[in-house]
Amino acid sequence: MESNLLPALLEKEARTKKIAHLLLFYGGSARDRLESGLRLAQILNCQSLLPTGPCQQCSACLKILSGNHPDVLILEPLKTSIGIEQILNWQEKVYRKHYEAEFKVFLLDRADSLTIPAANALLKVTEEPPERTVIILSAENPEGILPTLRSRAQSYFFPTGKREKWLENYDENQRLEAAGAFRLSGQNPDLAAAIMKYGLEPTKKWLDMFWKVIAEEDFLGLFPLFPLEKELALIYVQVMAAQVQAGLREGRFSAADLLAVGQALEGLRKQANPRLVIEVLALQLFQ
Ligand SMILES: [Zn+2]
Repeated sequence: MESNLLPALLEKEARTKKIAHLLLFYGGSARDRLESGLRLAQILNCQSLLPTGPCQQCSACLKILSGNHPDVLILEPLKTSIGIEQILNWQEKVYRKHYEAEFKVFLLDRADSLTIPAANALLKVTEEPPERTVIILSAENPEGILPTLRSRAQSYFFPTGKREKWLENYDENQRLEAAGAFRLSGQNPDLAAAIMKYGLEPTKKWLDMFWKVIAEEDFLGLFPLFPLEKELALIYVQVMAAQVQAGLREGRFSAADLLAVGQALEGLRKQANPRLVIEVLALQLFQ
């Protein structure tokens, strides 16, 4: 799990084990909502909870993370909607004894696709909530959920991430690469799109070689990095800027490094020779 999007209030409630039976996660991406649901399940069940969150090492944490915990279940529509049969089948599991968890957690993804009979069956469950059990309704658009059911839930809104919006520009088979490009760009959508235009792999390869040269202070190692088109140089140096900025926070780079990369960018924009710019930059980063 890359980041924690679980609302702070809910996290606090989970820590004190005083939590509502029925929650509604809406907005954001399905992935954000799912990861938050799993984190919630971990906090409720972790055997050595840390101040920062679940330990990620105990058997409860590991089983939840890998989707193998018998008391933490995700329900997704089998067809285009979640029908009554799917809910009745699920209901049985909701009322079953806890296998090993302190709290059972059920997450119902795409809850806006519940049919009316299915939503009514679920409503019955929430009227007689089983003990130490949390049901999470997860939907992008809560308007599609039966109002009587929706109104019983404690609701949490997830903001739609810049990343998810941007990823929608790509087909399913390009998403993985696009996600990598977005990460490499330091979450800059325009730069990420430029990386996608030339391919993530060649970009990473070029940058890895560059940073190896810097680490080894091996000026001659720069030579295989050329020739280099101006447009590509601009992309690479922009990525370097994002990397140096991130490294600055972690103490891997200095303010002088960031300044040098900034000057290189400026040089490229002023139509300086890309090779010259990169060589000057490398010399400055050596110091
Ligand atoms: Zn744990």
